[in-house]
Amino acid sequence: MLYKHTATELSKMLKNKEVTATEIITDIFNRIEETEERLGSFLLLKKESALEKAKIVDEKIANGEELLPLEGIPIALKDNMVSKGDLTSAASKMLANYEGIYDATVVKKLEDAGAIIIGKTNMDEFAMGSTTKTSYVKESKNPWDLERTPGGSSGGSASAVAGGQVPISLGSDTGGSIRQPAAFCGIVGLKPTYGRVSRYGLMAFASSLDQIGPMGKSVEDVAKLLNVIAGYDEMDATSMEVEVPDYTASLDGNIKGMKIGVPKEYFIEGLDENIKKVTEDAIENYRKLGAEIVPISLKNTEFAPATYYILAPAEASSNLARFDGVRYGYRADNYDGIMDMYVKTRSQGFGSEVKKRIMIGTYVLSAGYYDAYYRKAQKVRQLIKNDFDNAFKKVDVILTPATPGTSFKLTDKKTPVELYLEDIFTIPANLAGIPGLVIPAGKVDNLPVGIQLIGKAFDEATLLKAGDAYEKAYTKMEMPKL
Ligand code: GLN
Repeated sequence: MLYKHTATELSKMLKNKEVTATEIITDIFNRIEETEERLGSFLLLKKESALEKAKIVDEKIANGEELLPLEGIPIALKDNMVSKGDLTSAASKMLANYEGIYDATVVKKLEDAGAIIIGKTNMDEFAMGSTTKTSYVKESKNPWDLERTPGGSSGGSASAVAGGQVPISLGSDTGGSIRQPAAFCGIVGLKPTYGRVSRYGLMAFASSLDQIGPMGKSVEDVAKLLNVIAGYDEMDATSMEVEVPDYTASLDGNIKGMKIGVPKEYFIEGLDENIKKVTEDAIENYRKLGAEIVPISLKNTEFAPATYYILAPAEASSNLARFDGVRYGYRADNYDGIMDMYVKTRSQGFGSEVKKRIMIGTYVLSAGYYDAYYRKAQKVRQLIKNDFDNAFKKVDVILTPATPGTSFKLTDKKTPVELYLEDIFTIPANLAGIPGLVIPAGKVDNLPVGIQLIGKAFDEATLLKAGDAYEKAYTKMEMPKL
């Protein structure tokens, strides 16, 4: 039953010699064997290498050596983070057999910290989606209800944590892909500030929006994981040289006097009544904890999804140009000359969502439409950022619903626009480059509901402090019955 524990608890047990790293890894893989057929969280499992690494940790413990905070702790990575010698497919046919030839900076940092990478998780193809259904390989399931989606695009990283297959994982978030699955699966997920975590080795979707971030069962675990992955990296030109604090240091449960902004534009028509109620209860709970609740306005919020769905495809169309059958992965079998090879490779290698976005992106960047779409979207992006800058003159954090509804059935037929609106509350933080944290705040019909806290750039510490205080006072950690 070790799989039920948080990373923090496991680490304590390791240090007290109540368990060995080998026992933890063995227990985790037993749990995976028991549940993976139903959950479908993983695209790659690395049991052998995980057990080897556990042995090294156990030897260190036997020698009386001090362990680092995540040493010996199992972790899973979304399959768009390159790791040397491992399958890294971004859940695309285009890269179905691609093996990483170097380690992403986050992988290196995790290994230096002694964390044990146990596998790669399923996702929407190239991180485009909100259900994990655009994966070329398979569907993932929500551990709370196997007929429902875990969310996406980091659905496998969320279902793995919620289902007890691994205590912590990494996801990536371009418009909500860490936070929406975290909300759907009842776990904690953080999208850090743009530039806080190196993107070196993260397969690019929309480079000005993508961030890697931690997912886990508690805010403390997420803070510990952020401690390891955050920091300047000369291999990522957009990585920032800003000091990395100890993110666990602020987790004292005391938020008296903290100013929490509540934007009226997030309580829109279409927001599920139950979600609204959970969010309003959370606001009340924060007030009881001593926070000051401040009504605010983020007036350009309604334009966020449209802005995102111009900018993200534009960047994707450029980033995905590299998959041409020459340099990476798939190449069509039969073709007549190089143009035909490109066309067939890309037509066959990409799934329909990816192709749609490449076409939209190419269109909005074309000479005739650039001003009408791309340039205008960039201007609106600035307005959305200005709204946040103004709000943060008055408040320390902003509290919003995380998603418009709870997880839906995998068989539900949603229109593209309905799916694009899934991220209406999460997209603004990506556009503004600021951090967003989702924590569990309740359940409706046995399905988890999350709330989102949005913070100032590089102020993850305050977000985590606010999230942790809530968790300590009001959240009982629960696992779904599988
Ligand atoms: N659901 C959004 C999209 O489809 C966000 C994806 C993401 O954050 N990677 O683009």
